[in-house]
Amino acid sequence: MAVFAIVGAGLSGMTLARELTAAGHHCQVFEKSRGRGGRLATRRREGWQADHGAQFFTVRDNAFQKVVDDWEANGWVQPWAIEPLVYDRDGFHPAEETSIRYVGTPSMNAMVLGMSEGIDLFLQTRVDRLERVDHQWRLWDDAGEHYGQFDAVFLTAPLAQSLALLPSGSRAEVPLRGATMLPTWSMALAFEDDTGIESDGYFVQEGVINWAARDSSKPGREPSPEVWVMHFSPTWTGNHLDAPDSLLQQQCLTLLRKLAPRDLPELAGSFKHRWLYARSGPARIEIPQWDERLRIGLAGDWILGDRLEDAWQSAVNLAHEVIEVWQ
Ligand SMILES: Cc1cc2nc3c(=O)[nH]c(=O)nc-3n(C[C@H](O)[C@H](O)[C@H](O)COP(=O)(O)OP(=O)(O)OC[C@H]3O[C@@H](n4cnc5c(N)ncnc54)[C@H](O)[C@@H]3O)c2cc1C
Repeated sequence: MAVFAIVGAGLSGMTLARELTAAGHHCQVFEKSRGRGGRLATRRREGWQADHGAQFFTVRDNAFQKVVDDWEANGWVQPWAIEPLVYDRDGFHPAEETSIRYVGTPSMNAMVLGMSEGIDLFLQTRVDRLERVDHQWRLWDDAGEHYGQFDAVFLTAPLAQSLALLPSGSRAEVPLRGATMLPTWSMALAFEDDTGIESDGYFVQEGVINWAARDSSKPGREPSPEVWVMHFSPTWTGNHLDAPDSLLQQQCLTLLRKLAPRDLPELAGSFKHRWLYARSGPARIEIPQWDERLRIGLAGDWILGDRLEDAWQSAVNLAHEVIEVWQ
């Protein structure tokens, strides 16, 4: 049995922990936030909640479909019966993608919470650096505490955060230097009454917002109050990284007024969240995920694309390589 450290308790970190534990190894997972799930995130307010990170996910691969079927059987995810519209300069038309859109229930991170059962987890522990000690790794957090030693370390944070921890001389270091992830402002608005807006979701191709959805229409959520979540384009977000609430709210209300058949009801509440490392784009980055010499592994959506399925697939790929080494 080997002892491994995993940095990050998002979907890729927890998938890796589950796969390696099932193969008989011991994993300790370190997460800087208070909760698990990473970009699968739901925030609660008095009487309402909203998903401010990933909105839904789809399935392309058969192996992933089997996993999602298990998640659904466990009650962790459900299909979201949504027929989104595209809103562009020509008006409104149905979105082309017709595959099932799943959401975590009752919150986006439900499958990560389920998978973390029995896993050794250190929350609110930001890993600051790795130290090589006698062919093993020791982890240091930002409070000066150390953990370990470990036979290998797996970094599953977004690209820039993993790159910051990657020891120099790693085989992945050079190819990663030119890669980036783009930011996204997310804003949630709760209304006192129904808005009357026709569709539960809009891919917006006009203006500064690129996604708007009635979050309260997702399965496992209270339908009232009506809650909308909007995502701003990476370009606009990048140019307005310090945007105040008032500016974001004004942009959201301007869009919703175009979608609504009548005056919008009063606001019951709102919140914003800035994702500095939201998504990397669909391109794959050609890096070795496992560095045998350093005993460092990398996983995360950004290696294969920018979707939840990519996060899962990258973790499974890395787990297979590692399990072979420790057979
Ligand atoms: C706004 C937005 C919209 C999205 N929409 C969709 C969508 O519609 N469909 C879809 O499929 N995907 C979507 N995604 C992408 C999806 O959320 C990701 O693919 C997936 O959640 C990535 O999981 P991960 O485990 O690789 O990374 P993350 O979820 O980012 O997990 C990494 C974890 O590492 C932790 N961490 C970072 N640094 C450290 C450190 N030094 N020490 C300890 N812990 C650390 C972080 O706190 C985080 O919890 C969206 C993402 C965003 C932000």
